[in-house]
Amino acid sequence: MHKGSNLERVGRYNLTVVLDLIRRSGEGLSRVQLVESTGLSTQTVSNIVRRLLEEGLVAETGKVAGKMGKPRTLLRIDALSRFAVGVHLDPSVISCVLLDLSGAVAARSHIPIRSVAGPDQTVRVIAEAVDALIDKSGVERGRVIGVGMAAPGPMDASGGGVVGPPLLTGWERVDLCEGLRGATGLPVFLDKDSTAAAHGELWISGESAPHDFAFVYLGTGLGSGLVINGEVVRGSSNNVGEIGHFSAGIDGPVCSCGRPGCVGLTTMPSYLVGRAVEAGILEPSAGEPDLQETMARLRLLAAEAREGSAAARAILRDSATRLARAVEDIASLLDLERIVFGGPSWPAVSGLYLAVMREALADRKAVGAIHPLELVDSALAEDVAAVGAGCLVLNELLSPRADGLLLVP
Ligand SMILES: [Zn+2]
Repeated sequence: MHKGSNLERVGRYNLTVVLDLIRRSGEGLSRVQLVESTGLSTQTVSNIVRRLLEEGLVAETGKVAGKMGKPRTLLRIDALSRFAVGVHLDPSVISCVLLDLSGAVAARSHIPIRSVAGPDQTVRVIAEAVDALIDKSGVERGRVIGVGMAAPGPMDASGGGVVGPPLLTGWERVDLCEGLRGATGLPVFLDKDSTAAAHGELWISGESAPHDFAFVYLGTGLGSGLVINGEVVRGSSNNVGEIGHFSAGIDGPVCSCGRPGCVGLTTMPSYLVGRAVEAGILEPSAGEPDLQETMARLRLLAAEAREGSAAARAILRDSATRLARAVEDIASLLDLERIVFGGPSWPAVSGLYLAVMREALADRKAVGAIHPLELVDSALAEDVAAVGAGCLVLNELLSPRADGLLLVP
């Protein structure tokens, strides 16, 4: 059923449309250009700009010649007027970034959480990390507008918490937002790590971002975030993009779900390292390896492949070929222009995987027949999910969204 809207919401939506255009313009826009681009009346644009100037979100930055010779004042985002914190809770490390209004990273920190067992203690550690990051940056606390969190899925359907994420023991059902809101006194927003990554990519790429793309996220597991028609898609319960149990269409090891050949299993760092040990490329681990050690061993395997080990290359080629099948399915279902790859385990394997997947998809008629499908590295190589989480906060403030018009949240 279609819902109505009211004037206040429409006004707020128009304000974010103007602000978003100014942000994306880079060089700045004049009021006349804003009228032309938005279709809003001169009076409405003038009122919105006055409000943005009063709130310090934009600044007047010089003049350019207008068509009739009268110079026009340019408006630009005041990037240092507001800041947002982005936090990525990974099973092995907490990454924090402080973003300015343009999305640029003003400060960052990383805290290993090997010894942190339960959610309460983790929320405390995150709150302390957020405080320390703001202090370190020298940014006035009043300019920080909120905290965005990226956490491994699955998400609670209410959007406030996580539900039994793999590899985080004792996290059966945890309301992260509530805990962190209480501890920091700031508004808190939560997203799944792969969705946060897609969000970050959309925000940072600005005008050059395609309208329809998927972000394939390789961490301790495999997930994806989706951007359709220029907006981040979340699905019915904030759990869109669970591609780990997509079949690679060829025989493979039996997954935890009971089926053979799931692509999530065959891209897992622990699986790849296990195969490398079986093949005698890596030494067996002395004890039960932790996540940091597994990531380090994946980098060793990738280095062997780069240095010419045929056995190491075969293991990674097999995994990348299987991933290409899943990528083809996602692209076909959604008519995507681009697939972006990133996440904690991606940098180790990116060169080889991209080459193998591009080759595998080059002659596939299912994709690329009507328009090309690009496979690319994330523009946010480092801290992609943390930056995406911070962008979630900026987005709440800055970006126009059709759902912001609804009376029912
Ligand atoms: Zn499975």
